[in-house]
Amino acid sequence: MTTADARPAPLCLACGSGQLTHWCDATDVEYQSVANRYTYWQCLACDCLSIDPCPVQRLAEIYPENYYSFTGRAPSLLERFKLAFDRRLLRTILRELPGETLAALDIGGGTGWMLNEARRVEPRLRTTVIVDIDAQAQDLAVASGHQFVASRIEDFTTDQRFDLILMLNLIEHVEDPVAVLAAVGRLLTPQGRILLKTPNHASLDAQLFRRSYWGGLHCPRHWVIFTPGSLESTARRAGLAVQTLEETQGAPFWCWSVLAGLARRGWILVSAQRPMVQHPLAPLLMALFATLDFLRRPLMGRSGRGLSQIFVVLGARK
Ligand SMILES: [Zn+2]
Repeated sequence: MTTADARPAPLCLACGSGQLTHWCDATDVEYQSVANRYTYWQCLACDCLSIDPCPVQRLAEIYPENYYSFTGRAPSLLERFKLAFDRRLLRTILRELPGETLAALDIGGGTGWMLNEARRVEPRLRTTVIVDIDAQAQDLAVASGHQFVASRIEDFTTDQRFDLILMLNLIEHVEDPVAVLAAVGRLLTPQGRILLKTPNHASLDAQLFRRSYWGGLHCPRHWVIFTPGSLESTARRAGLAVQTLEETQGAPFWCWSVLAGLARRGWILVSAQRPMVQHPLAPLLMALFATLDFLRRPLMGRSGRGLSQIFVVLGARK
């Protein structure tokens, strides 16, 4: 496989294979943080998408100040609705964990809203730790009673072991998902569980918007994008086993896909000062697509095939 310029041949970030096929090209249409054009390659060996080049040296540019400006605001009606689902899921997982007291870690957990929910449904949860690169989230997290470590997960070390580890929309942001999953797996207690959510490039929206701009790329901040099968094989290589896997809604991806189409036609304005997330149409589209996903889910069978995101519970391989 050759590219138009003279970059070294790309490799799959999940499995290291050089057997890749072009999936799409994309730019940062959401935040306009950098002007570069990125290619997403699909791996013929494991089916993951990998970004090329991987902007690992440009974190300060691709996560601009206003990327975090919405942390700490009150949740919208839609987010409250979503929280009710998350709470039910957390209760199911936490109930099955043994022990008189439990410890939980949220990687990329921001101000700790998800750990707040976990504590609400499980009184045995006494220790809650957040690892996040957004140091601005620290004050609110600590005020809510969580320990906070301002760090990338790749640089985080601790002797503590956790019964529950949350990795919600995190694994798609890392350069070496197998190494990160293996390291996180070593932080688990023997019966511990990882709850992981990530975009699904086998979804209906990914197929529909692949040739324009699919919101699940969140380009150039999502570096590796899975399908249910490729997530399972990646977890296995990291020494983890999938306990349950389901597909779930991803209204934001539909929303960014549609807004990107409108921006390309010049019908709406998106700039570095006014990123897509701040556009007044965003909450309306988000509510619309969340409703559509909710309605189409029962029509697609219990697995919910074709939805925008994958939700898995992982445990250590026995
Ligand atoms: Zn691969």
